[in-house]
Amino acid sequence: MGKNKQKCAFCGREMENLFRAEQPGVYICHECIEAGHNMIREMKQYNEDETDVKGLSLGSLPKPAEIKGFLDQYVIGQDDAKRYLSVAVYNHYKRVLQPKEEGGVEIEKSNIILVGSTGTGKTLLARTIAKLLKVPFTIVDATVLTEAGYVGEDVESLLTRLLQESDYNVKKAEKGIVFIDEIDKIARKSDNPSITRDVSGEGVQQGLLKLLEGSVVNVPPQGGRKHPEQEFIHVNTQNILFICGGAFDGIERKIAQRMNTQVVGFDAAKKAQQVDKSDLLQYIAPQDLKSFGLIPEIIGRLPILTYLKPLDKQALRNILTEPNNAIVKQYQKLMAMDGYKLTFADDMLDYVVDKAIEYKLGARGLRGLMETVMMDVMYELPSSKRRSKTYEVTKEYAAARIEKTDVNKLM
Ligand code: ADP
Repeated sequence: MGKNKQKCAFCGREMENLFRAEQPGVYICHECIEAGHNMIREMKQYNEDETDVKGLSLGSLPKPAEIKGFLDQYVIGQDDAKRYLSVAVYNHYKRVLQPKEEGGVEIEKSNIILVGSTGTGKTLLARTIAKLLKVPFTIVDATVLTEAGYVGEDVESLLTRLLQESDYNVKKAEKGIVFIDEIDKIARKSDNPSITRDVSGEGVQQGLLKLLEGSVVNVPPQGGRKHPEQEFIHVNTQNILFICGGAFDGIERKIAQRMNTQVVGFDAAKKAQQVDKSDLLQYIAPQDLKSFGLIPEIIGRLPILTYLKPLDKQALRNILTEPNNAIVKQYQKLMAMDGYKLTFADDMLDYVVDKAIEYKLGARGLRGLMETVMMDVMYELPSSKRRSKTYEVTKEYAAARIEKTDVNKLM
């Protein structure tokens, strides 16, 4: 610092106690330093605002009923799950967007767990919510994870895909949604955790815990296993919404056991008679997840627990025609681009649904079955010399194609 009066090279004023640059005779005053500091802070703030998730503000946040309304356009049935999800997601983003106040009430993070057979719409629900909110979304599979130090992927790598989805914009990723599929596959295999090391079970659950509860984690930018030479990206999971899904095969037995043991006394016996044994999943409670092998800490971090119903015949039939992007509508759009009005006979659609049920293909198989039927139509129609510009797919046509197909290929 100079002792005598010097000239600030930025504002040109002469004063004492200026900061001296390396170059002789060049000084800067404290006011210019302060102004520069403020400018940098403002620029940073501006950039942060710019890179924040677009369109996500308290004013524009869709209300639970609106979220459910949107889900209804894409997902058939599953009303309970939709209501739970809508409220949980609404609360989550209210929490994310709440103005920060010191010492105020802190809204806790509410991750979600969806239990239901495969192909009932768990992923579809999560994906559709992300689409509505326009936040980064990724689906990861819990089965690839192993405890640190073993062959497989570290839990932190779950966030790599989210970063990629957000073009490595960390702030954006930190408000995204991660769908962790097959969470049931990392359940503890035995009731006694100390028998052998459970590489893919409890260890992974412990690892997941810190992601779910909200902390800053080191994410390997390219995913896979972490190694020391790699530069990590620090991601705060505080505001990331985790939606876990799993089929939990056989959990009905645990639910039944719990309900049986709870039934004591006359009133309870009366209640037990009302239990719908064909759909025990609707009674699922956190302790059933524990009996299945999830550790209590994980269950505690997934406070919103809901279930999906198995899809019945009518639901499968609706899936073909009703959602905004229903399979039938997609084929109609494709053929309309060639100038054809495509229709499907009602008994043809019923036939496809019956086959999906017969071969136990569920909703996922509907597309494969329809594709089998539509292959020849899509091949021939665009270059056909037909006069009529309408085309109906009949049951006979569909049956002829499906019957000669190897069902295993549709799985
Ligand atoms: P899960 O995650 O439960 O295993 P998905 O959500 O991946 O199942 O469903 C597989 C496919 O089946 C979806 O892409 C969708 O085409 C269809 N599907 C499943 N359930 C529904 C549903 N309830 N409404 C509409 N389509 C559904």
